[in-house]
Amino acid sequence: MGKKLIIANWKMNLTVNEASLYVHKLDKLAGKLKHTEVVLAPTMLALQPLNMQVQHHHFNLAAQNFYWRDRGAYTGEVSAAQLRGVVQYGLVGHSERRHIFAERSKDIRSKVQAAVRNNIVPVLCIGETAQERADKETSDVIRDQLVGGLANITSVEVGQIVIAYEPVWSIGTGKFASPRDVERAVKYIRRQIEHLFGKVAAENVRVLYGGSVNLDNAMSYLQTAGVNGLLIGESSLDVYAFAGIIKKCEDMSSLPVKRGK
Ligand code: PEP
Repeated sequence: MGKKLIIANWKMNLTVNEASLYVHKLDKLAGKLKHTEVVLAPTMLALQPLNMQVQHHHFNLAAQNFYWRDRGAYTGEVSAAQLRGVVQYGLVGHSERRHIFAERSKDIRSKVQAAVRNNIVPVLCIGETAQERADKETSDVIRDQLVGGLANITSVEVGQIVIAYEPVWSIGTGKFASPRDVERAVKYIRRQIEHLFGKVAAENVRVLYGGSVNLDNAMSYLQTAGVNGLLIGESSLDVYAFAGIIKKCEDMSSLPVKRGK
């Protein structure tokens, strides 16, 4: 069993100084990690200064966003090529990018491809809105977002990426999906990946849950079959809560695996 992956998405919060202080505190609180890979997605401004600091503390970094062209006349944009070597991961298709900034499927698949081309692991975020859930369209939405997002990469590359199942209605709302719903969605995601890219890709791809995860509910998702980790927004802003979730993950992963008869 691989390490659990826990990603903190700070969104447009924390200054560069606050981010640096957070990393110092997190290092002290979390201690040495054996079973958990921790990834921080700060403001773009903090990526370069944090790059040195996190190497020392063994955390990884993610970009919250980037543009898919490598260079050129794209005022205000930062490319995956420019982020190469600074971050290990890049969020793509987060619901706030899809809904507030109107990112479409073709932007998302170009970003997934740009990340892969630049040695950055894309974290493709997918999930249904409340209306789509009420209309029983969750599976269709998941399938469409997978097909749309992964169209430009190979099955070997798909096996190396991360998919975050984040129902839109659960992001930043305090309403979280039940572990049963998450298990069902994650199974469906792997079935679709198998159908589109084969068994090996489906086994290798890491799938996270995100949506109002907190210190109280984190364990239930970490113990859900098929879930390789968490993508956490609001609760990751509180370094004590985030360190608490990491600690629970470490404690859970260090227990001996129970074998059935
Ligand atoms: C997110 O932004 O990806 C997220 C899951 O946010 P929150 O944990 O605040 O719901």
